[in-house]
Amino acid sequence: YQLRQMVTYKAKLAGSMAIAVDPKHTSQACPLCRHTAKENRDKRRHRFRCQACGYASNDDRIGAMNLCLKGKEYLLEGAGLA
Ligand SMILES: [Zn+2]
Repeated sequence: YQLRQMVTYKAKLAGSMAIAVDPKHTSQACPLCRHTAKENRDKRRHRFRCQACGYASNDDRIGAMNLCLKGKEYLLEGAGLA
């Protein structure tokens, strides 16, 4: 909650806005093909490798990519475009 408050404050200062999204499965879902499985992530080594399409990257980076996708989807739904 405190992090969300700080992010919202900083976003306002920058003339931007913060969107809160559900972080569920954001570290297990492939941002390219959307295949979601806990086997996609090697938590201990901070590695992500999609079992379906083979896309690989750092797991925190994958989490950030998925949060960004969720934010975009939220905006498109709000605009009636999704
Ligand atoms: Zn994939």
